[in-house]
Amino acid sequence: MVVTRFAPSPTGYLHIGGLRTALLSYLWARKNKGTFLLRIEDTDFSRNDEAAALAIVEAFKWVGLKHDGAIEYQSSRLAIYQEYVQKLLDAGKAYKCYMSKEELETLREEQTARKERPKYDNRYRDFTGTPPQDAEAVIRIKAPLEGSITVHDGVKGDVVFNVHDILDDFIIARSDGTPTYNFVVAVDDALMGVTDVIRGDDHLSNTPKQIVVYQALGFPLPKFFHVPMIHNHDGKKLSKRDGATDVMAYKTMGYTPEALLNFLVRLGWSHGDQEIFSMDEMLELFDPSDINRSASVYNVEKLDWLNSHYLKNMSNEKLCELLEFHGVMLISHDKREILLDAVKERAKTLAEMAVLTAEILARPAGFDEAVLKKGYKEDSREVLENFAVALKAAEELHLPSDYHHVMERVVADMGIGFGKIGQPLRIALLGKLSGPGLDSVMAIIGVEETLARINTLIQR
Ligand code: GLU
Repeated sequence: MVVTRFAPSPTGYLHIGGLRTALLSYLWARKNKGTFLLRIEDTDFSRNDEAAALAIVEAFKWVGLKHDGAIEYQSSRLAIYQEYVQKLLDAGKAYKCYMSKEELETLREEQTARKERPKYDNRYRDFTGTPPQDAEAVIRIKAPLEGSITVHDGVKGDVVFNVHDILDDFIIARSDGTPTYNFVVAVDDALMGVTDVIRGDDHLSNTPKQIVVYQALGFPLPKFFHVPMIHNHDGKKLSKRDGATDVMAYKTMGYTPEALLNFLVRLGWSHGDQEIFSMDEMLELFDPSDINRSASVYNVEKLDWLNSHYLKNMSNEKLCELLEFHGVMLISHDKREILLDAVKERAKTLAEMAVLTAEILARPAGFDEAVLKKGYKEDSREVLENFAVALKAAEELHLPSDYHHVMERVVADMGIGFGKIGQPLRIALLGKLSGPGLDSVMAIIGVEETLARINTLIQR
């Protein structure tokens, strides 16, 4: 049985790196018909972060990830942590330390002056005397004094930590009784039966401490998979400045969940040189031991490319539904098939599709002088007038090809190139020199509207 978990600290939203970790954990659990848990690590206990949990659930819902069981909040598990602290005290594997802040500070200064790494000096480790009066105690765990701790990591291989360099008898409960981060993570993972811990490699250095807790409590170790960070183009850890880090901002920008998940799974994992993965393929092929060892680079062009792939291959019905979020209502538009076919070819995002759609459906607000200069020449008026006459004379005008034939006839009759009609007509219809195919635009807006727009330009 595989049990994985996603264990975010509440930040108020789900960030893109978090979603990647969640996805990998989700895939591995689902692939093995196991369990995928969601645990909110609100260890500072100052608030029970309902809002953060809701934001995560909302993002999960949008991308289609489902966690099993109820959300676990660390803030509601205090009694459990206290119980395990007590177990360690009773077993002599943890102890009370009465060192004051001032003493700790003095020790740190001395060590720093000696150019040593500041660490606790174990002065209460075997203490049997009378505690100093009025002193408040923290609880420290007995860590190994020498040797090394090896993390057998499924991504990084064996990572050996020298005890002397990285460990001391660290605090597992503060003087007010609240437990500390590494302690609760280890206790929770063990009690929740997590078999495979998949998380960012910024947590690798916490792992030896967590292993100390596992061992002290006699819990079996899970498998660890530390996933390299996502970097920006400068080789630095991805930050807010590099674009949206909030998953829901990707919805606003018009990315589809399929593209985003596909993008994220490839950030850190590969299968040959395949780029496109459906959820079913991810489930079939993903294995955490194939996670890349080096950091991956966030590349928005890649995301755009994937997104346009998914948009092009999406049914118009689905597109129609998704575009509603972007303020475009096409359900009852009789030419919506032609419209969606035309714009999905040209857009990287749903937001771009919405803009293109609006540009087609609304008359140009005005005509820009620079555009006119470039595309509206001396003979343009005559060409457009001839085209309008030909349109009025045409019998059946429904499909883009019907309009195309009229255009062809006009250029043939006038003995001119296609550009002579294309440019001014484009300005008349869209107010600019780029955009979807004109035959499609005319089929969408219909002959009356086409004539009206041509007339507006001619009469301006
Ligand atoms: N709460 C940690 C974070 O949000 C994750 C801890 C873990 O996965 O072990 O970075």
